[in-house]
Amino acid sequence: MLNVPPQAFPAPSSQQRAAAGGRAKVPLKPGRSLMDWIRLTKSGKDMTGLKGRLIEVTEDELAKHNKKEDCWICIRGFVYNVTPYMEYHPGGEDELMKAAGTDGTDLFDQVHRWVNYESMLKECLVGRMAVKPIAAPKEITSVCEEKKQLNGMLPEKKVLSGASKDLTPSYDWFQTDSLITIVIYTKQKDMNAELVILDHEDKRLRGEIIVDDYSYLLEVDLDHAVEEDMAVNIAEKVGKVEIILKKKDNVHWKILGQPLESHNTFMKRTDRGLFYRKCKLVLKTEVTHDTKLFCLLLPESTHLRVPTGQHVYLKQIIAGTEVVKPYTPVLPFLPLDFKEPSCHDSAHIYLMIKIYSCGLFTQALDHLQIGDCISVSNPEGSFKKSQVQTSEDLFLLAAGTGFTPMVKLLNFALTEVSCLRTVKLIFFNRTEDDILWRNQLEQLALKDQRFEIQFILSQPKKDWVGKQGMISSSLLSEFVKRSRKDSKVLICICGPTPFTEQGVQYLKDLGYSQEEVHPFTA
Ligand code: FAD
Ligand code: NAP
Repeated sequence: MLNVPPQAFPAPSSQQRAAAGGRAKVPLKPGRSLMDWIRLTKSGKDMTGLKGRLIEVTEDELAKHNKKEDCWICIRGFVYNVTPYMEYHPGGEDELMKAAGTDGTDLFDQVHRWVNYESMLKECLVGRMAVKPIAAPKEITSVCEEKKQLNGMLPEKKVLSGASKDLTPSYDWFQTDSLITIVIYTKQKDMNAELVILDHEDKRLRGEIIVDDYSYLLEVDLDHAVEEDMAVNIAEKVGKVEIILKKKDNVHWKILGQPLESHNTFMKRTDRGLFYRKCKLVLKTEVTHDTKLFCLLLPESTHLRVPTGQHVYLKQIIAGTEVVKPYTPVLPFLPLDFKEPSCHDSAHIYLMIKIYSCGLFTQALDHLQIGDCISVSNPEGSFKKSQVQTSEDLFLLAAGTGFTPMVKLLNFALTEVSCLRTVKLIFFNRTEDDILWRNQLEQLALKDQRFEIQFILSQPKKDWVGKQGMISSSLLSEFVKRSRKDSKVLICICGPTPFTEQGVQYLKDLGYSQEEVHPFTA
């Protein structure tokens, strides 16, 4: 089955009729928005029923609180009374009830790994699970020396088995009078800049290497201070990554530094917490009446490239609560000369964001001033460039800001995929005024014969002579056609969740296979 959530969202009158996450939202009652929840948590009301007392919770006790009117959930060893949160949960009460009276960590990680529940639910904290000592599992090695588990509810640290340990990257370091060089041997042939994420702030160095679905982490408190800027050299063929730091003082380092908790670990990417760094807003320009292009500057001490088809999370403190939302970086403009601009500009992240008049996060974003900072996470997403590399026909179905993943994808396809015969963007919007980068798209279509653009409006003004309608089977059968009977095709789809869900279903009904369709979700 395709990875598209089954529920339908939302109130037809709402401005954004879709999920912010991978799951569809359910319409919330008036007065039950995230902002209303934040207000309630600040009101001083006793949310746990324990008058501020924290208790130790046994498994038996947790299991007793499994009803809508009395619901406790454990996440990563901490127990929350989520009863007052029920009506505010964007995924609906039933979704939350799936974890009632149990450990909801896995369920939570599947759906909202990026949501900061500690901040959202801090007033609902009942306490910790009672500690139950257990013998150290056989496979746990130096990577995880935890000998106790909290009733089995701590997230298990994934350690690789004997055979795959050979694939675990390793590192070494050396120094001159002025430089510290750290070398990571990734044991991967096709290393590239997108697979290396580095940050250092004060004396803390964090280097993450992505190896398929796994990540290797180097995380140390450096022995001495270093300058902000650094150099990163990647020997792609042999998979060697060199990080060159400049010493602030000309002293001899005895050690690289003190290892931090996750230092030298190799585990599933999804088991790592999201890491954020502060980026400065350097430019904000209008794209349409409600959509803006934000340009964020990465710190000099960060090395980060967001791969095509992936998104980042932005984090802001809104009314004292951490709120996180995903956004898909675009390019500053649609290049017509087919040179990858990110090669020249890796210091900036461009985001095209629609500002909703009642939106919690986008309203706060819109109030950021040039020079203000915002936290930006490491990239995430399931899209792989290799999906396009073997395609002959590429169809992109986008609705509204669902256009954002298509920007880098278009550039990549037209620049680097030689076997592509046709690239077609079918772009759904309400009115002409809502079309993002219309001129640029039309110019690109004139410039490159392989590229075709089709605008479809759902609420056009009278003078619109183009196509009108919503996503439907007949529209797709008209516009999504293989250029040859046996063409290898890839269809990417992104927009409000119900749009994506319906599109995927229609394509399936039209005979396209699961491998031929990629829906963008969180
Ligand atoms: P919200 O406060 O969530 O509200 C938005 C609107 O929907 C408001 O009008 C609100 O009244 C209404 N609404 C919200 N919830 C409900 C509900 N349950 N019932 C009825 N109405 C409701 N957006 C972009 O602009 N650009 C991007 O590049 C981008 N990339 C994304 C990438 C991914 C992977 C995903 C999943 C989403 C992406 N989004 C993007 C959407 C983005 O994450 C936010 O959802 C969006 O910015 C709205 O945030 P908000 O907090 O301002 O709005
Ligand atoms: P919008 O303006 O509300 O809608 C764009 C077009 O899609 C309109 O023609 C609209 O028609 C149509 N549409 C909306 N809901 C639909 C539905 N349920 N079924 C069929 N057609 C529908 O879009 P937006 O406000 O820009 O929202 C874009 C969405 O894309 C957001 O939900 C965002 O979360 C999502 N997004 C996801 C990703 C990702 O990677 N997963 C990336 C970027 C954006 P009518 O409104 O006239 O019916």
